[in-house]
Amino acid sequence: MKKLQLIKNAKKIVIKIGSSLLIDNGKFNYKWLKSFVEDLDSFLNKTQIIIVASGAVSLGKSYLKFNTHEVNLNIKQAFAACGQIFLMNNFIKVFEEKKKKVAQILLTFADTEDRRRSLNSRETIKSLLLSNVIPIINENDTVATDELKFGDNDRLAARVAQIVEADLLLLLTDVEGLYNKNPKHHGDAKLVEKVTKIDSQIYKMASSQTNSYGSGGMLTKIQAAEIAGSYGCNTLIFQGNIENPLKNLKKNDKGSLFISSEKKKKGMKNWLAGSINISGALEIDNGAIDALKNGASLLPSGIQRVLGKFSKGDIIEIKDYNGKKLGKGISYYDANEVEMIKGKKSALIKKTLGYEGREEVIHRDYLYLSER
Ligand code: GLU
Repeated sequence: MKKLQLIKNAKKIVIKIGSSLLIDNGKFNYKWLKSFVEDLDSFLNKTQIIIVASGAVSLGKSYLKFNTHEVNLNIKQAFAACGQIFLMNNFIKVFEEKKKKVAQILLTFADTEDRRRSLNSRETIKSLLLSNVIPIINENDTVATDELKFGDNDRLAARVAQIVEADLLLLLTDVEGLYNKNPKHHGDAKLVEKVTKIDSQIYKMASSQTNSYGSGGMLTKIQAAEIAGSYGCNTLIFQGNIENPLKNLKKNDKGSLFISSEKKKKGMKNWLAGSINISGALEIDNGAIDALKNGASLLPSGIQRVLGKFSKGDIIEIKDYNGKKLGKGISYYDANEVEMIKGKKSALIKKTLGYEGREEVIHRDYLYLSER
């Protein structure tokens, strides 16, 4: 199927447009956004659209007339505080020309990784879409600190796609997509048109391909595609740094499509599948793997190894002997407690820990298993 048709077929799309498209020499690229909104109007008039847009830091830097590259986090946050207004102002103006309304949503890592807060943002986004308002989302850079930050809007967009249960994630960028080698250094580099499995080879291809503005490059785009794929959402990376990018896509049909092999998930399992904030992992035996596949909870008896430090309520990964990721879940116990009860029958939990805890370490309702 042609790529534009694939986009047209989707009901709900998250579109990520980065600074390399929206900012030109420190200024907002109004002409580009105008051409893009024209495209949305002609091709995706009936689709529910959520936009993840960046450029706040860059616009704020120009506004405050900062030339130096070395700025600390607080200054960057100040840039974002200034620039975000300009960013939104431009969006309001461009969409107004097409008689469309927009709204601003600023999210942090903590908002998407906390189930309750992510549900709150979902409800807000739903109400906006119902009122025909296009949500424009960015990371809340003014409050996010380095250790608890997305840092790139690619992964933020993937998490937003999970929150809104989108069918498709579009990542517009300044190249045609993922190449098998860096096209700047290899004349024979080929565009990878279709990916059905994101493995280390795909990451290797991506690792050398970066752009000049955003913090992401190709690597975070692959990470985003992997996150989206985990809850059954496909991702398309294609060239956006030209006017009327969708019209162009109609003509050249070029891009990298990442097809998810997972079934679409709902509710808690959907949120867990896309979660990024992983605190540790458990290695489990084959008996436990079979039990989980049959819908059981994870009991202490099947746990072989505890990796990392996590607390009760944290999201942890479930792995097999070889370290293959099988899924994720919310742990009922702290890591040191799991260390004490691993391999034991649940009846021994009370004797071992000194209190009567749950018989399972991860309850099946709080467990996501990958289909792969
Ligand atoms: N959120 C940042 C901004 O608006 C950019 C993050 C990114 O480059 O992806 O400037």
